[in-house]
Amino acid sequence: MERTKQYIQKTDKFGAHNYKPLPIVLEKAQGVWVWDVDGNKFMDMLSAYSALNHGHRHPKIVERAKKQLDKVALVSRAFYAEKLADFNERITKLTGYGMTLPMNSGAEAVETAIKLIRKWAYTVKKIPRYESEIIVCSDNFHGRTTTIISFSTDEDYKKDFGPFTPGFKIVKYGDINELKKAINKNTAAFLVEPIQGEAGINVPPAGYLKEAKKLCEENNVLFAVDEIQTGLGRTGKLFCYMWEGIRPDMLIVGKALGGGLMPISAVLADEPIMGLFKPGEHGSTFGGNPLACECALAAMDVLEEEHLVERSAELGSYLLQKLKDLNSPLVKEVRGKGLLVGVELKPEVGSARPYCEALMKKGLLCKETHDHVIRFAPPLVITKEELDWAIGLVKEVLK
Ligand SMILES: *Cc1c(COP(=O)(O)O)cnc(C)c1O
Repeated sequence: MERTKQYIQKTDKFGAHNYKPLPIVLEKAQGVWVWDVDGNKFMDMLSAYSALNHGHRHPKIVERAKKQLDKVALVSRAFYAEKLADFNERITKLTGYGMTLPMNSGAEAVETAIKLIRKWAYTVKKIPRYESEIIVCSDNFHGRTTTIISFSTDEDYKKDFGPFTPGFKIVKYGDINELKKAINKNTAAFLVEPIQGEAGINVPPAGYLKEAKKLCEENNVLFAVDEIQTGLGRTGKLFCYMWEGIRPDMLIVGKALGGGLMPISAVLADEPIMGLFKPGEHGSTFGGNPLACECALAAMDVLEEEHLVERSAELGSYLLQKLKDLNSPLVKEVRGKGLLVGVELKPEVGSARPYCEALMKKGLLCKETHDHVIRFAPPLVITKEELDWAIGLVKEVLK
């Protein structure tokens, strides 16, 4: 406990307090397991908010990253690079879009999408300059930049950080009529998460995304999905939008794209949209660097070779059913898709935090999201035995 205490003190003394972590200090990790500085072992059921779909330090991804480190890690975007070429081809083939633009963080990719949407609005749809609107949803989470928090509905995210970027309209998540009413001649796009992860694993009504896509098509409005958290197998499909058999105009990915080793995100669209960016209009020093691209290439290979999408679908239904079967008197609802599962506690039970702390003491790491919901999102490489072990602990804590 001594070392744990010291590191927590040091972190909080010299670092900003923009997070409220559980009192545990991690030192190393492998697969679904992590170890703290006092040698205790835990199962990671949060997976860096789905950035660790491949687990910690997946051996095949680590090996390829090491090889890449011995070749080249970063080049100026003033030059072409071998790995960027490979990445562009691989991710467009995987997703079925014509072109891509890699960035680093998820928020940067969302910003990129917003700029692209606006450029499309003025140059293609011919909306009068600077009058375009993007429709977003209540309880959205798309990142932390000043523009993105401008259309957040969470007071903590935006209070004291204005003035805000205009040009966004908020509709109720899952309510197709509100979307219909909100669309007008200046609407450029609808930006949506297929499941709201940060807001508490909110799954919209079946058919919502499909109807939203149809409305967008009818009104010449771009349909843009933020799959930063839900993408790359997390929900039991390659992308969560695939549950509804649609094809968005714009796809935003991040988190697990870097295989749990490097930050890399990307926006995908076909040439009539992505082709609108001209030299000088957008960029990022580290965007598409060879090391991150090689990690992403390895991550896409592992996703396919180890059938992580199928695993997520199978183990996810199993987890969902097992949690429902607990019939815990504390639980209001268990919901989710694939290995993205939320357990919402009854309001009278109070905060989910003490339950997360109790699970931590037993060796299982997860985190409350929005007070009443415990999010379970283990790496997709988890085995059924490991999952059963975790379910056993949840049973003890929620009984
Ligand atoms: C995490 C997340 C983001 C932001 O990604 P960062 O890499 O933290 O900037 C955006 N959208 C969704 C849905 C996310 O889950």
